[in-house]
Amino acid sequence: MKIFECGHCNHPLFFESNSCENCGHSCGYRDDDRIMLTFDPLKPSLISDREKNEYNYCKNKEYGVCNWLLEKEDEHDYCNACQLNRTIPNLSDKNNFSKWQNLEVAKHRLIYQLQKMGLDLPSKMVHKEGLCFDFIAKKNNPEIMTGHANGIITILLREADSVSREQIRKKLQEPFRTLIGHLRHEVGHYFWDRLIFNNQDVLQAFRTIFGNEEANYSDALQTYYKYGAPHHWQESYISKYATSHPWEDWAETWAHYLHIMDMVETAHFFCLSVNPNEISQNMKTEATLDPYAVKDFQTIIDTCVPLSFAVNSINRSMGIPDVYPFVINRAVIKKMTFIHELLLPKR
Ligand SMILES: [Zn+2]
Ligand SMILES: [Zn+2]
Ligand SMILES: [Zn+2]
Repeated sequence: MKIFECGHCNHPLFFESNSCENCGHSCGYRDDDRIMLTFDPLKPSLISDREKNEYNYCKNKEYGVCNWLLEKEDEHDYCNACQLNRTIPNLSDKNNFSKWQNLEVAKHRLIYQLQKMGLDLPSKMVHKEGLCFDFIAKKNNPEIMTGHANGIITILLREADSVSREQIRKKLQEPFRTLIGHLRHEVGHYFWDRLIFNNQDVLQAFRTIFGNEEANYSDALQTYYKYGAPHHWQESYISKYATSHPWEDWAETWAHYLHIMDMVETAHFFCLSVNPNEISQNMKTEATLDPYAVKDFQTIIDTCVPLSFAVNSINRSMGIPDVYPFVINRAVIKKMTFIHELLLPKR
């Protein structure tokens, strides 16, 4: 994620900021060119400080879950991220509201990243092949699960509750479980349909790396939940769950590819470098490049590994879990390189 700056006083701003802490100007995100615009809060309309153009906020600003902007002439009430919401929770239940806020933070970061990757994000409500989100409370819909089906990404509200999410994480023996991780995984299934299924050459290449996805999916999942991951899974997969079926391997690897790209992009915007004394050369790095502009995926991995070693070490000093508790082996790098090269022409 980028760091943003106030258009009035140049103070740094977060992606989620609603106003500048230094000068009090209000702010909003314009996704066309991924910049934050700022506005004089004493003026009745949103005229940007630098360009003097007029904007409206997305309607979800009313709920404090979105700070994205629409041009004054835009006919939509909602921004490009919120137009993808098909179902939001019942907001008369106060417990739902904070969970929805958490989900929206993760979803907006996901959309930022997918846009930066150059991917089309049509709404399922307008295009048959589009994408939409259902954020749903399980108690009213006992049969519904978190997952993806034909462009519809369903996330159960309980995943936005940190206690409940931690209980599920322990039960499933996962090293970490996050909202952004869920969204990245599920949207991976959507992009498998869009980028791979319709292209025979790409599909063949996919099968040589991830295996044949024609293997019966429900049988494969039943086998996985009965017997778990095979021994030595760490030699070829990013997670245990990735071993269940080639589709899940793709979605897990895709999610981790997005984690890595975001981590290295953030490090790049902060100009982070890691240069420990007396530790091998491959634990030194400078995040000088925006990873989305880098062709060679190995360069990104060479930046990511020392960075995650450093930030994991800082977290351990604070007694909190590792930021990135995974080992990226050669087979996984090959899979991620396939994803990286598939996406390069889109940027
Ligand atoms: Zn400011
Ligand atoms: Zn919005
Ligand atoms: Zn999946």
